[in-house]
Amino acid sequence: MKIAFIGLGNMGGGMAANLVKAGHTVRAFDLAEEALARAKENGCEPFSAVSEAVEGVDAVVSMLPNGQIVKSVYTADVIGKAPAGALFLDCSTIDVATAREVAELAENAGYVMVDAPVSGGIAAANGGTLTFMVGGTDEAFARAKDVLEPMAKAIIHAGAIGAGQVAKMCNNMLLAIHMIGTCEALKLAEKNGLDMQMFYEISSKATGYNWSLNDYTPAPGVGAASPADNDYAGGFAAALMLKDLRLAMGAAEQSGANVALGKHAAEIYEAFNEAGGGGKDFGAIFTTL
Ligand code: NAD
Repeated sequence: MKIAFIGLGNMGGGMAANLVKAGHTVRAFDLAEEALARAKENGCEPFSAVSEAVEGVDAVVSMLPNGQIVKSVYTADVIGKAPAGALFLDCSTIDVATAREVAELAENAGYVMVDAPVSGGIAAANGGTLTFMVGGTDEAFARAKDVLEPMAKAIIHAGAIGAGQVAKMCNNMLLAIHMIGTCEALKLAEKNGLDMQMFYEISSKATGYNWSLNDYTPAPGVGAASPADNDYAGGFAAALMLKDLRLAMGAAEQSGANVALGKHAAEIYEAFNEAGGGGKDFGAIFTTL
């Protein structure tokens, strides 16, 4: 298949390389020259404009920072430039309203589009083990699966267009809440004379078990291996968690959903970012308690 890949950063770089490994022709574009040079080393064909990269392709995959950029890239350089009937897959994490708006513009112009945000970080992008949450019609999902396969551990059809973004923001709001709760419980145990490792042994087998505690323990040297064991380097940056929480808070406001704990989690990550912690793994909230 001929695939255009737009946005070859931390995530997109590895994803595009996996499409090349699977035998696809990947026509790459990124504003950053180093990203484009790395993509070339990985077997992609580099282009100096999106409109050139999308010429003659079967599919366009994008992995971009936010909704505003996704909308401007698709409206200016993809819609009307890619061949009629091409499949568009936006894998970026963006707000639901923009995902639906861009898909509608694409569909009105004769394209098929899905939103396909991912769970899993840079290691999963490089390793081809991302989980994709896909929003779109049954027909679009069937086509999208073939493109996503070489980059995926799991590909789930969440529902109609936008449903992938809804799943992603709800998942990450829940993740932020149980990460903060896990940090608080570990610290409370320690402050009351219970060794954190002992708390981990008990709670990871009791009703307090959750992914943050069991698989990504945020206290250094306790429980499962995680970025906490490496001064919170690598992993999932607190700045990206804040981005996802802001998307969730925006959607909660628009839909009238009551997200008291999500709001509090957003405030905690907001303060952590303002204090300069944005580059640390999101489990570093533990260090603030
Ligand atoms: P990144 O900043 O490393 O990569 C984004 C790339 O897009 C950059 O190389 C940038 O130069 C390029 N870009 C920006 N504007 C552009 C434009 N107009 N045209 C072409 N290229 C442009 O970010 P990332 O970590 O790869 O994240 C990408 C998306 O994936 C985001 O939406 C993010 O929320 C989501 N995500 C990231 C992670 C993670 O762990 N990093 C995990 C899940 C989801």
